[in-house]
Amino acid sequence: MIPFGILFDGEIPPYRESSGQCSYTKISVCYVHQSARPPVEDTRDLKEIILDIHRMNVLPTTSLSFQNLFVMGFSSAKKNSTGCFSSLFGNLRKAKTLEQKNTVPERLPAYEECITTKALEHFDVKADTEIEKIIYDTIDNASSELREISLELHRNPELGMHEYHSHDLLTDFLERKGFKVTRHAYGMETAFTAEFTNGPGRRVGLCSEYDGLKGLGQGCGHNLIAISGVGAAMAIKAALESGRVKGKVILYGTPAEEITVGKVIMCNLDVFKKNVDVCMMIHPSPGDTVYHRMLAVDHVNVEFFGKPSHAAAAPWNGINALDAIAQTWNNISMLRQQILPTDRIHGIITDGGKAANIIPDYASATFFVRSLKISQLDELKPRVEKCFEAAAIATGCKVKFSWKDVGVTKDVLVNSVMGDRYTKYMESYGISYIPKSEQEQMSGGSTDAGNISYQVPLVHPGFGIHTTAVNHTHEFTAAAKTEIAHEDTLRATKAMSMTLIDILQSQDMLDAAVAEFKKNTA
Ligand SMILES: [Zn+2]
Repeated sequence: MIPFGILFDGEIPPYRESSGQCSYTKISVCYVHQSARPPVEDTRDLKEIILDIHRMNVLPTTSLSFQNLFVMGFSSAKKNSTGCFSSLFGNLRKAKTLEQKNTVPERLPAYEECITTKALEHFDVKADTEIEKIIYDTIDNASSELREISLELHRNPELGMHEYHSHDLLTDFLERKGFKVTRHAYGMETAFTAEFTNGPGRRVGLCSEYDGLKGLGQGCGHNLIAISGVGAAMAIKAALESGRVKGKVILYGTPAEEITVGKVIMCNLDVFKKNVDVCMMIHPSPGDTVYHRMLAVDHVNVEFFGKPSHAAAAPWNGINALDAIAQTWNNISMLRQQILPTDRIHGIITDGGKAANIIPDYASATFFVRSLKISQLDELKPRVEKCFEAAAIATGCKVKFSWKDVGVTKDVLVNSVMGDRYTKYMESYGISYIPKSEQEQMSGGSTDAGNISYQVPLVHPGFGIHTTAVNHTHEFTAAAKTEIAHEDTLRATKAMSMTLIDILQSQDMLDAAVAEFKKNTA
């Protein structure tokens, strides 16, 4: 008898796509001969079985008839184990033709491929299908209410720090749902918190964003982020109310992400460090990624002061502030050649003079400066300042510049303990990911969630909303209100909720997340 493969009797297990749950709950593997004798069931712990199969290394390398492989009825409700099987199923489910389906995968994934974080092997998370059901049912049942909120935020986009309607809409709703709500939190008119606890225990945080973009409305889909936080908070609250798990959930309403201010202010007050053990949020995007890089960023306003003069009658009496801006542009363009490929410097002229026949005595510009890590940004900023100073010397202008007053926006440290767990849930719902190493090559944007990631373990996955448009476009604005984007949001909300439930259930998992956090921030 050898564990010849793990398949199922002729049919790929039906996945209930809406909730993402596999409808099988029993785990068993049938050992068969190649000749397909009656199977012997194995109902040991799934991890043991995977290891066993892997150890014996007896998997078929040749194609075999799928139907003849009379094996197994099972699937995984066990959280630690879904990776292997969902990727195996994933391949088969994706197979379009019968012939493809008749081809047995060359090999099962190695155990290590499924359990990427070594520490995961030792986590004391117990599969609790009751909690899973509470989470999924709560989110599914709230779907239409969440949809209404999402569309209302989409219809009425508000700019950062002016999200008055969004703030009231969300806080009124959360209060009706039984949360302890604090409006206008942390000195910001449009920030809030909503919390629920059933007693001492671990504490998990979530973020909802809701600000829009000038001229684009919800061009970054923050209406979806808003409801993901609300939905997950409701689901975790329901799990806490069931008494099956202990602890606290806090939803933070974080304004003004687009100008990367809200969470920076909150982090300056140590809000996350003081109140939660971990934090999580999800962000709509063209694709699903967990380990993409989010850059550290700072903004700088630069002003040049010259002397006005008649541009034709007496130009020699003038000191041209616009020339200083032009010189700045050239300096920065040359600097770009000598900086890291992951650095970004980009800007606009905000004042270029008043009239073409007057030598401009005042000109100003704004630049964003970004690096992969905050430590690299700290080195890059003085080099940009030199570009301003050199332009001032060359033109005879005076220069003044100021970086963002609330402070720099840090890069996002993605906690892989939570990231891997989230990935596993999403994979079990049928979402596939490119390899982690390739995800880590993807970079571009920035978010003030980065500052949270330097306070507590954080994960900030992007989830696909069935669009090829990138964020901050009219196309993305349109995609952010579709029914399918709503479904995508609820799926990712479930994975986020379950990841945090696992933290509430497992001190081991929290310890592993904190150990990695300490290593990354040391
Ligand atoms: Zn965004």
